[in-house]
Amino acid sequence: MKYVLATKNAHKVRELQEILTELVPGIELVAYDGPEPIEDGDTFEANALIKARAAYEHTGLPALADDSGICVDALGGAPGIHSARYAGNRSDKDNLELLLKNMEGVEDRTAAFVCAAALVDDQQEVTQLARWEGWLALAPSGSDGFGYDPIFEPEGYEVTAADLTPEEKNAVSHRTMAFTALAENYLAEV
Ligand code: IMP
Repeated sequence: MKYVLATKNAHKVRELQEILTELVPGIELVAYDGPEPIEDGDTFEANALIKARAAYEHTGLPALADDSGICVDALGGAPGIHSARYAGNRSDKDNLELLLKNMEGVEDRTAAFVCAAALVDDQQEVTQLARWEGWLALAPSGSDGFGYDPIFEPEGYEVTAADLTPEEKNAVSHRTMAFTALAENYLAEV
């Protein structure tokens, strides 16, 4: 069975290809390269569905999408759904620096990576939400990963997500948890 994956983020394509091939052997993923929809939902689930729906409508293939971000307790859940453009552009470095600046002197550094995985096909529109709990580091560390990985220390580790190898991260991440639930509940028959 062929699925279209509604993301243009090369890191995410790589991560999701590894994750989904593990879960659903034989699954064939093609990257979506059609028009990008406006992500104007106010939840991770709503935005994941907007992306999956656009890919499904444009290609006719069953479509998978994710919407993700980092939620910081002391900032009331920000940057949340605005993670990709927190600093006003799409620069990972600027986003990360702004978040560290906004957290200067803040003691409660609990945070979570959150991911909504969505599936849209001719039968259904479904989502699964997962949280990867942890803390914000005081300074960036590590060279693997992307986005906020260098400043996110997952619970149970004393290093950041960017210090983990892709295999170590994929074994436990928010994206893996959300797509595992989606695969188990809705892709099992593939
Ligand atoms: P999306 O592409 O609209 O889902 O935006 C997700 C944004 O959240 C990315 O640009 C990253 O800044 C951040 N993000 C989501 N997942 C991760 C992750 O696994 N590591 C680091 N940053 C992430």
